Amino acid sequence: MIDVDDLIALVRNYNPHTSDAVIRQAYDYGRRMHQGQKRRSGDDYFSHPVAVAAILTEQRLDDASIVTALLHDTIEDTKSTYTEIAAQFGDEIAELVDGVTKLTNLQLNSTASKQSENFRKLFMAMSKDLRVILVKLADRLHNMRTIKSLPADKQAQKARETMDIFAPLAGRMGMQWMREELEDLSFKVLNPEARSSIIRRFITLQKETGDVIHKITADIRTELDKEGIEADVFGRAKKPYSIWRKMQEKQLAFSRLSDIYGFRVICRSESDCYRILGAIHRRWRAVPGRFKDYISQPKSNGYRSIHTTVSGRDGKRVEVQIRTRQMHEVAEAGVAAHWSYRDGELARNPFAVDPARWIATLTERFDSGEDNDEFLENVKLEMYVDQVFCFTPKGDVVQLPKGATPIDFAYAIHTRIGNSCVGAKVDGIRVPLWTRLKNGQSVEVITAAGQRPQATWIDIVVTGRAKSAIRRSLREEDRERFVKLGRELARVAFDHVGRKVSDKALKIAAKTLALPDETEVLARLGSAELTAREVIEAIYPELARQPADEVDHRRPVVGLTADQSFRRANCCQPVPGERIVGITYRGQGVVVHAIDCPALAEFEEQPGRWVDLHWHSGRHAPVHTVSLNLTIANDAGVLGRICSLIGEQKANISDLTFVDRKPDFYRLIVEVDLRDAEHLHMVLTALEAENDVAQVERYRDLGRKP
Ligand code: MN
Repeated sequence: MIDVDDLIALVRNYNPHTSDAVIRQAYDYGRRMHQGQKRRSGDDYFSHPVAVAAILTEQRLDDASIVTALLHDTIEDTKSTYTEIAAQFGDEIAELVDGVTKLTNLQLNSTASKQSENFRKLFMAMSKDLRVILVKLADRLHNMRTIKSLPADKQAQKARETMDIFAPLAGRMGMQWMREELEDLSFKVLNPEARSSIIRRFITLQKETGDVIHKITADIRTELDKEGIEADVFGRAKKPYSIWRKMQEKQLAFSRLSDIYGFRVICRSESDCYRILGAIHRRWRAVPGRFKDYISQPKSNGYRSIHTTVSGRDGKRVEVQIRTRQMHEVAEAGVAAHWSYRDGELARNPFAVDPARWIATLTERFDSGEDNDEFLENVKLEMYVDQVFCFTPKGDVVQLPKGATPIDFAYAIHTRIGNSCVGAKVDGIRVPLWTRLKNGQSVEVITAAGQRPQATWIDIVVTGRAKSAIRRSLREEDRERFVKLGRELARVAFDHVGRKVSDKALKIAAKTLALPDETEVLARLGSAELTAREVIEAIYPELARQPADEVDHRRPVVGLTADQSFRRANCCQPVPGERIVGITYRGQGVVVHAIDCPALAEFEEQPGRWVDLHWHSGRHAPVHTVSLNLTIANDAGVLGRICSLIGEQKANISDLTFVDRKPDFYRLIVEVDLRDAEHLHMVLTALEAENDVAQVERYRDLGRKP
């Protein structure tokens, strides 16, 4: 284990302004807290945080990062707390340590590699400060370097996580060396046979060709000397995993040198880069299509370099990268360079590139409105503040906008899950569906078959996907009902004119009425946007002249589903033309009341039983019985005259009851079958005009139930 003086010396090497005291304090505190704890290898536990700190010194990072590394497992694994660390080391360090702890506590149990991008975003979302990720990556690097002491299944799991999440994350951060090492350490665990076969073939190749690296670097150096250019030339064999991946991707044989060795020329200035390129291309033949100039056109993550592949006399190809020292540092250190020291000073903005480009790669969704210089100034990670990342029970990550609810989550998984959602559990606890989700929460959607989205959800959800799915479902629900009713109405109307309703007939109607299809015809028929008469006329214009326009007397109201029967309420006896409302009864029965019927008062507390209805607009059959209360003179022949008066109005008397018979007047109730309100009006007017009728009124207006 590195002792505290050695650690301080490592830091002082690159940062002469380092604070011995704070590093010493963190070292002592960490050692005390982890006292007695052992790693699986048998080493003192504290050797791990110290090793992590040492990795960060290689990246030449600031004191806060080093201190965070020393303390990174204290909150998680010891009796230390956030408050205590804040009291001893200040809020900045406490925040950083807390951030690392949160990342450690994430359950990265996804088996799906396609989820790894979301995990990486989750990491960024949960890290307010990028240094949290730098410490976490160093932590993972040390754990991978010492993975041998873990049991085999744990090794495989950690290696898979590292390959899927941490290595690409290091790449995203621009730290190429870290990515390569993490990949290779994982590769060793996940596919040891492939790795050792590549190494074996590599050794064989070296025996055949001799020390290729030395030969080629010497050749390049000779050319540069001729041109009088000062530069360093490095050659290296690529990591087994890089070779393996290239072989997989391009299905190449092992023999291509350009895929095994890489050469780098590091020089002082940009113009030297192009001079070097010229010298190399003069000496060796450039392979067409392999030249890339990332200096004039940097990669979006700020990477700058010239790449070329040349082939020598023996036909063997070699890849050469040409860059300045500064370009090289950016390529290796990546975003960590922001907190690193150069020439004893904090580098702060070492990038020769537009910092905005950096952010663009990190976020992959560059928002030009953001002030990215400010971002770097504050060294805060704000790229996913408007996002939350939640887990499915299987451990998949779902990315949602801030403010998202379990309903949004359900729709993000599948429209079917959203539509049948009836409840949700967050971290195992039942919550209301309007709960706003937080980063890292695990969400379980509870569904029920046959469930439909509620209209009120529209106002709760925040994702467009959920909103449109809910709207669609609500529309479909209405539509289904209307289509069903329309089909029934069409059947009745066709029967009425002696035809059979068929898809073919309805298709003709759709065409004539300029509607998209026959279902639309039925939907509009059911919602009373079309009358049955209009539909029939569209198909059989010859029937239009005949008075075949009567409303089916069995379905005179609009708004019922096909399976709902109905009857008119006895208390108010509504007739077509009057405003009505339906009240459902057990089963499928609906009783139709006049809108102002006093009997409705008792249903006021049961809004679910009310059904919106209206009468069909066509001509109704004279079947709507209305009870009339009549007081007539007790004279011979009066009753007969009354009956013929009513008959003259083409109304039928279906019943007649004497209620009261006095010497001078009779009181009786006459049941009259009427078409509609107008018909009733005509009958009442005719009766009132008759001298022998003392009084006439609708029975319901007496305020008594029959
Ligand atoms: Mn650790």
